[in-house]
Amino acid sequence: MKIVTVVGARPQFIKAAAGSRQIRKEHTEILIHTGQHFDDNMSAVFFREMGIPEPDYNLGIFGGTHGQMTAKMLVGIEEILLKESPEALLVYGDTNSTLAAALAAVKLHIPVFHVEAGNRLGTLDSPEEVNRITTDHVAALDFCATQDALAKLKAEGLGDRSYCVGNIMYDSFLHFANQPWEKSTIFDFAGNKVTVPERFYYMTCHRQENTFSDEPLTEILLAMNSLDAPTIYPVHPRNRDRAKRICEKEHFNNIILVQPVGYSDSVHLTQHAKKIVTDSGGLQCEAFYAGVQCVFVLDFIVWPETMVGNRNQLAKADHADILHKLSVKQSIDPAYQPFGDGHTAEKICKIIHEWSGQHEKN
Ligand code: UDP
Repeated sequence: MKIVTVVGARPQFIKAAAGSRQIRKEHTEILIHTGQHFDDNMSAVFFREMGIPEPDYNLGIFGGTHGQMTAKMLVGIEEILLKESPEALLVYGDTNSTLAAALAAVKLHIPVFHVEAGNRLGTLDSPEEVNRITTDHVAALDFCATQDALAKLKAEGLGDRSYCVGNIMYDSFLHFANQPWEKSTIFDFAGNKVTVPERFYYMTCHRQENTFSDEPLTEILLAMNSLDAPTIYPVHPRNRDRAKRICEKEHFNNIILVQPVGYSDSVHLTQHAKKIVTDSGGLQCEAFYAGVQCVFVLDFIVWPETMVGNRNQLAKADHADILHKLSVKQSIDPAYQPFGDGHTAEKICKIIHEWSGQHEKN
């Protein structure tokens, strides 16, 4: 088959690294990068380091309101679909790139395959939830990362097209977790190489809820600064100035602010950290894979599977709450593997193969 894959944001590059490798064994893949994430250390580094093929198209669309961004992507992707006439379109996750691609394809009667389908928060206040629900419902195949997500789709009447295949990010994680760590690619804001300390905490924080003003981010950094080892914090470009200003003003000298790191570094920071504090959906899963305890700073649960044995705990953006959650011990049941076995991409391709066989016959 000729399959168009659309990516645009960091977590999608990480998923596509595993997906594209497998898809290209059997199919012709055309890769579209919408341009949503464009800095070298938010985009190109993943293509280089993870062996993701060069995008065939880059739409260069970023910024603006959700409506503006989605509309521009819809127009750009539709043009390419008309030109390429693929037999299917594949998307990952829940960004505006996911939604725009799914809408463009379904209106042209091109079947949509959605990877990481079925995750639900239960509120349309979240723009990602809107993207997820819409994409799941227009898709021909929905690939769920967990049994919980599959159950959600069955409850919405989508059981006939939905499959639990595991989390494709786990494929990428295992690939890098089993390789040696070159600690040479972590840089501070001034571009100087950072030496990773023997013992450290790993933190990421970039969601709107935690970075829209100084207060929540200051609370989180206050907690991290008071810990018994330094915190390494790769800062998303969106809140770089704010993080830098707060750390300088509050003299948070136990926090090492760095530029966004490549995926290999992120995986190895995860594996070697004492504990992790984050508001990232992806990083909390990776903490789980690595068996490193995580504190998730947000008001709602994103991956319920991780919230067992105190392996991942919700905390408010409040320094006392974060420190309390960090002081709790975790317990790990090694038999509990809710995210599959790291062969998700293979499972997806097998199902696509069967689907295309049936499709040809009909
Ligand atoms: N990540 C990375 N470099 C960084 C920070 C995060 O490679 O400097 C990885 C991290 O390991 C995880 C993913 O990026 O796999 C999470 O992406 P992000 O936080 O942008 O998205 P979210 O998880 O919130 O959807």
